[in-house]
Amino acid sequence: MHDRMRAGLNEQVNHELQAFYTYLSMSSWFEAENLPGFASWMRAQADEEKEHAERIIRHMHDRNARVELDALERPPGDFDEPVEVMRAALEHEQEVTSQIHELVDLAEEVHDPAAESMLEWFVDEQVEEERTFTVLIGQLERAGDSGAGLMLMDDRLGQRGGGGDGGEGDGGEEA
Ligand code: MG
Repeated sequence: MHDRMRAGLNEQVNHELQAFYTYLSMSSWFEAENLPGFASWMRAQADEEKEHAERIIRHMHDRNARVELDALERPPGDFDEPVEVMRAALEHEQEVTSQIHELVDLAEEVHDPAAESMLEWFVDEQVEEERTFTVLIGQLERAGDSGAGLMLMDDRLGQRGGGGDGGEGDGGEEA
């Protein structure tokens, strides 16, 4: 593997773990706000991010590329309202999307079709992630200050299957 590709993927592992850490922190915030449905939904989202990191790590190991884990930053943990959390999460996903797109460009530049093929999955995944958060933000904006609306969403999000590889039970898409 080209050294720049290795460095780029290695950096992406860190970004994905940072997303895990950020969503874990957001999940704790929801717990503290007595919104257990949001909390468990966000916890499952965090687990997905860890899976993303592991997916890249597997690819690197399969190709004999050394993975070097870096330090994580302190995640945001102080929010005023649920919609603010989801907006921060969407912003985070948008950053990850550009990082993935840059990696695809790099894979093309250094002629690494294996990395490119692995990254294609992430390109599609990011479209879904951004869509999921956009829908949730829209629903929270619509609920406004309605406690009943918020409780209804909390109920629905709590029904998402725990963790794993995503795809099914995406609460945000259903309302
Ligand atoms: Mg991710």
